[in-house]
Amino acid sequence: MKTTPTPTTNQTLDPTNWDEARQLMHQMIDDAVDYLSTIREKPIWQPMPEEVQASFEEPVPREASSAQEVYSEFQEKVLPYPMGNVHPKFWAWYMGSGTLSGALGDFWASIMNPNLGGGNHAANKVEAQVVKLLKEIMQFPTSASGLLVSGGSMANLVGLTVARNVKAGYNLRQEGFQPNHKMIVYASTEVHSCNQKALELLGMGTSSLVKIPVNSDYTININALQQRIKADRDSGFHPICVIGTSGTVNTGAIDDLNTLADFCEAENLWFHVDGAIGAIAMLSDIVRPHLSGIERADSVAIDLHKWLHMPFEAACVLVKDGKGHKNTFSLIPEYLAKNTRGIAAGDLWFSEYGLQLSRRFRALKIWMSLKEHGTERFGDMITKNVNQAHYLAELVNESADMEQLAPIGLDILCFRYNPGDLSLEELNTINKEIKTQLEESGKSAPGYTTLDGRYCIRVAIANHRSRKEDFEELLNDIRQIGVTLRGAIPVLSQ
Ligand SMILES: *Cc1c(COP(=O)(O)O)cnc(C)c1O
Repeated sequence: MKTTPTPTTNQTLDPTNWDEARQLMHQMIDDAVDYLSTIREKPIWQPMPEEVQASFEEPVPREASSAQEVYSEFQEKVLPYPMGNVHPKFWAWYMGSGTLSGALGDFWASIMNPNLGGGNHAANKVEAQVVKLLKEIMQFPTSASGLLVSGGSMANLVGLTVARNVKAGYNLRQEGFQPNHKMIVYASTEVHSCNQKALELLGMGTSSLVKIPVNSDYTININALQQRIKADRDSGFHPICVIGTSGTVNTGAIDDLNTLADFCEAENLWFHVDGAIGAIAMLSDIVRPHLSGIERADSVAIDLHKWLHMPFEAACVLVKDGKGHKNTFSLIPEYLAKNTRGIAAGDLWFSEYGLQLSRRFRALKIWMSLKEHGTERFGDMITKNVNQAHYLAELVNESADMEQLAPIGLDILCFRYNPGDLSLEELNTINKEIKTQLEESGKSAPGYTTLDGRYCIRVAIANHRSRKEDFEELLNDIRQIGVTLRGAIPVLSQ
């Protein structure tokens, strides 16, 4: 085998000139502060020109470039084309808007670059503390286990995996699935799709997720749930788990968690709560009473990059049965054996509670942000968003040409422009076009959904930068586009 000579023996990936590197880093910090402090004046979103798009097709860069050049390229090709969720007028899907301390935490997490698979080092303690704080916030016992994960999807996957293994009633980890032992999980028709994906990945099949109809407020119909579970038991199936949702993605509806907890207790079912949207609203004095019962869940998925505004990715899963949690994931081969002294000492190995062995230091941004702002301020931000949703609803209901389409859940309002003389199809077309034009103009970014065949402009206000007047402007912009489009309706509908 031919060996290639190393160009310079002591070459590393560190800067050759630390002063230059320092200067560039200072420049980046200055630019970041300018970026965030003037974000309101920037367009939320803009399309990428073709040259920019083409630049992402370039082949592997074999030769080195200067860090300054690479940074300039970032400024030119990436920075001007954001998704928009940092902007005060972004209310699409359900996303947080980031915090500065969160970003700086991520920066230091990458500089320190520890591996949170486990071990005897401070970063590991930081994650343990963050999990402990979240238990306290969720009113979970200290004996519960917990793990930071990438997002709500992973948090639900972990919770449902433990539910499956604990409730299988036999050693599923060892035996795999047994024939004629069909395990079933129940949730409302409004359940988030990631739960279905999770059950499919777990090998349980799409058919293992039974979707129960909702009431008019989009919460799960508990009578229907009870009847279905009884029928399934009578047919020889094995109901194992009910997923309650605290804040559905369409309308922010919160299932009746206490009644679900009672029912699961009586029926010996695992009670999992998908709290991707609403769980962290335990921090808000006005929302907390509506979440009553969440503390009775066997497991809960909490997103932190949504309403806690942590930079992506950040979520947490809590599991009451810490032993069941560990038994589901722990596997310690020789090369991962623990020690009684040194770096591998201690019993704190997060890799025993999830699929990932190597894990990033995502706890730092949460730790820094929680300390800097305090949970009361985070709670106030949540309360503010709920109040803004109600304010927007007031404006909608005062307007003859606007129509609210679902009850407000948490911070989510679904409505449409409706001048009163258009068919359902025309209304759907015009509202979709309004939403798209708002986005394309870079003015605001509401989301959308469809409820009972009706296209809704869906405003999900998980945004600590939004102001009252932003919602007044939103309605004015919608009206303006709507009035213009009305004349063009026959063309649009084709
Ligand atoms: C967003 C969301 C999820 C998925 O969470 P990710 O963080 O996007 O993975 C799950 N459930 C609900 C209710 C959600 O809103």
